[in-house]
Amino acid sequence: MTTPANPASGPDILTTPAAMQRWRRDHPGELGFVPTMGYLHDGHLALVRRAKAENPLNVVSIFVNPTQFGPGEDYERYPRDEQRDLSLLRSAGVDAVYLPSPADMYPPGYQTYVTVEALTRRLEGEARPGHFRGVATVVLKLFNAVSPTRAYFGRKDAQQLRVIRRMVRDLDLPIEIVPCDIVREPDGLAMSSRNVYLSPAQRAAAPIVRRALDTAATAWAAGERDAEALRQAARNVISSEPLAQLEYVSLADDETLEELEGTVDRPALLSLVVRFGPTRLLDNIELREQHA
Ligand code: AMP
Repeated sequence: MTTPANPASGPDILTTPAAMQRWRRDHPGELGFVPTMGYLHDGHLALVRRAKAENPLNVVSIFVNPTQFGPGEDYERYPRDEQRDLSLLRSAGVDAVYLPSPADMYPPGYQTYVTVEALTRRLEGEARPGHFRGVATVVLKLFNAVSPTRAYFGRKDAQQLRVIRRMVRDLDLPIEIVPCDIVREPDGLAMSSRNVYLSPAQRAAAPIVRRALDTAATAWAAGERDAEALRQAARNVISSEPLAQLEYVSLADDETLEELEGTVDRPALLSLVVRFGPTRLLDNIELREQHA
């Protein structure tokens, strides 16, 4: 029988891979897992609620993973607030929180990494070399510590979701990957821990990212199927905002993420990265045929 983990006193907190594995051995049965880098917002909490609804046991991890940040990126200043996160997870009723330290995850002598190949060469993989090697490696290590039945990932990080699905298939991991819809602020900005970097003026301008996607999606719904015309529709909207700089816009095969040219005849992912000063905002929308 599964013992509920301290419902009254809040989640159990595990800080090493060995402690997490022991906890899991003591708590058998179906388990939902939500990996995060903390500084939790409603996007994360939507994943937690879904996991709770679908599994009798639930674990959330908080780990700002150094190996997925490149040199000069924001690893040091990535926002952190462990006490607030723990209180949100306690209210959400999760059974355990896995909070490993970088030293326990990557002890001296560490030298093993997971590389998902073609899928990580474009888009965020191209913009952030080594990023997905760090992501795939840490997610596999988290899976090995938690042994989840199901793991919940946001569609916000569309390429990450596809990379994890590919890794799970390729390495025969007995884990179901559950994609979850993007949670947005009332004005359309996708929630992100990095939104705190935006100045008030940048924050006010940031919903342009969603508007660019919506404009292309409206053209798609009206029958536009030319890949370049759809990308251009998004570019035009971004170029109307002086504080926004488009880093890339992509219209790609929804599964392989290969860029599409000419007539779009399959499910596609329209994704973009827009810079507001040094802050990169990612967003995307899936374009597919609507069947009545
Ligand atoms: P992070 O803490 O940014 O690494 O995100 C942890 C998980 O939450 C990832 O699976 C993200 O895709 C997901 N996530 C982050 N922001 C959102 C959002 N606005 N809506 C849905 N999922 C999200």
